[in-house]
Amino acid sequence: MKSYEKLLADNQSWAGRQVHDDPKYFERLAHLQTPEFLWIGCSDSRVPADKITGTQPGEIFVHRNIANLVIHTDVNLLSVLEYAVVHLKVNHVIVCGHYGCGGIKASMSNHDFKQVLNMWLRNIKDVYRLHREELEAIKDLDDRADRLTELNVQEQVLHLAKTSIIQRAWKHEYRPQLHGWVYGLKDRIIKPVFEMDANTPIDPLYTYDDL
Ligand SMILES: [Zn+2]
Repeated sequence: MKSYEKLLADNQSWAGRQVHDDPKYFERLAHLQTPEFLWIGCSDSRVPADKITGTQPGEIFVHRNIANLVIHTDVNLLSVLEYAVVHLKVNHVIVCGHYGCGGIKASMSNHDFKQVLNMWLRNIKDVYRLHREELEAIKDLDDRADRLTELNVQEQVLHLAKTSIIQRAWKHEYRPQLHGWVYGLKDRIIKPVFEMDANTPIDPLYTYDDL
């Protein structure tokens, strides 16, 4: 059996198990998608949003990219965010990074990863630059990468708060709450590192006053 054929075979046995355990499972899901959470996580295969949070299909709307970045010119991310906030009306948006993130480590190096990846990782270098003093006081490079992972999550949550999508929902519907979390590959525990309730004041430079 080829490697991808095993995925299809495992899908069939999973589908069979679900129906066996709960005969109405797929029927219910087919008519209903009302997730309460939007998850913006890393593409890393070791950090599957549903598995590590114990959520079932239908419960969590997911977007993943390298190092869980929120970039204001990323039409893909912004479409997911708008759909989740405006149409699915999620109450929580979670940016979840993870310790041991290859994207974070790559951004701390001076290696040329060629243009597209260089461009993507540059956004993490910007986070490093903002917090250079704190980061360079940490001598152990793994510990420094761990702290950058936390600061990166915090910056991405702030980026969310700078969008008119979030500010409009905050103003008119007093949701969603924004969360910055970091998952530990070793202990499998998620650590909350940053949080923003609806209408948390941000730098006035970024606030829209005519939403
Ligand atoms: Zn990662």
